[in-house]
Amino acid sequence: MPLLDQHGRTHDYLRISVTDRCNLRCLYCMGEEGIEQVAHRDILSYEEIAAVVRAGAELGISKIRLTGGEPLVRKNLKDLVGSIKAIPGITDLALTTNGILLSERAAELNKAGLDRVNISLDSLNPEVYHRTTRCGELSEVMAGIETALALKLQPVKINTVLMKGINETEVLDFIKLTLDQPLHVRFIEYMPIGDHDRQYRDHYLPLSYIEETAAGAGLPLTPAPLPGGAGPAEAYTVKDGKGTVGLIHPISRHFCDKCNRLRLTAEGNLKACLYWQDEYSVKAVINDHEALKALIVKVLSGKPVEHQMVADGSCGSVKPGAMRTMSKTGG
Ligand code: SAM
Ligand code: SF4
Repeated sequence: MPLLDQHGRTHDYLRISVTDRCNLRCLYCMGEEGIEQVAHRDILSYEEIAAVVRAGAELGISKIRLTGGEPLVRKNLKDLVGSIKAIPGITDLALTTNGILLSERAAELNKAGLDRVNISLDSLNPEVYHRTTRCGELSEVMAGIETALALKLQPVKINTVLMKGINETEVLDFIKLTLDQPLHVRFIEYMPIGDHDRQYRDHYLPLSYIEETAAGAGLPLTPAPLPGGAGPAEAYTVKDGKGTVGLIHPISRHFCDKCNRLRLTAEGNLKACLYWQDEYSVKAVINDHEALKALIVKVLSGKPVEHQMVADGSCGSVKPGAMRTMSKTGG
């Protein structure tokens, strides 16, 4: 029987933050300094994460994404990959990473059972990349992308947050990445999450900008099937390119009616919606399989029909500054 929320949406997808720590400091995600970290002792162990996945899988969860923070900074991630992949019912295991450590780790993760990767990349210019991430080396991410393609961790998706005044001049360069290689570039709208009000107001740009820029350059976007099945993106091809261009509009055209996901934070809180403050700790029931299943059902029963975030940065009754940043929830 499918796992349904109170609005009849089937839930088959669990996104797991394995750490709140990161080796970058992207300006839309983390502050430059003074970031409170979850104590190591409070972070779920791999055994505990696997217990949650086992309970979810029995209820109908089949797709798992490991994220963070930066998942590749957590030690021995391959062990978690191996144990999740062995759980009956899990058919798709993906990773979202900034790609910095990917060229070193991709082979062992692939061997352990990782199916595919999403790599976050907001600029193809080394200087802009360094500034936006406050410390990242573009060449390391590009090596990670090459390795992912070589190992066929596909579809290999690139997540690019569109930011006015930072990377909107690179839109065509990103689109051109999809022409010769099976790369799936997904432009994501900047979301007002965490304590980033001013940054958001300065840099938010709706994704209609992508469609207009592509058409203006003689590279119109033609609707295409989504690579790797369902998801929040609208997919397009350009000039019969080998990859696709995806548009993910959490703000200007939200996709709450199709939402199929639950989230587990690094310290073990289940959340039914990224933009909602309600969360429930799994810790008290972590050794009780049936109680864990009941908790998952309870979390879903309170899922809102849609988020209330709008382009001016407000979130209805939820104060954006009071919400966790993406690095804390798991993006
Ligand atoms: N560290 C990994 C990475 O960067 O891919 C995984 C975690 S990160 C929080 C996951 C995704 O969230 C990234 O693609 C990042 O660009 C996106 N993200 C973080 N903050 C965001 C924001 N305010 N608006 C839109 N996307 C955001
Ligand atoms: Fe780190 Fe990912 Fe957040 Fe960037 S988006 S600071 S890489 S967690």
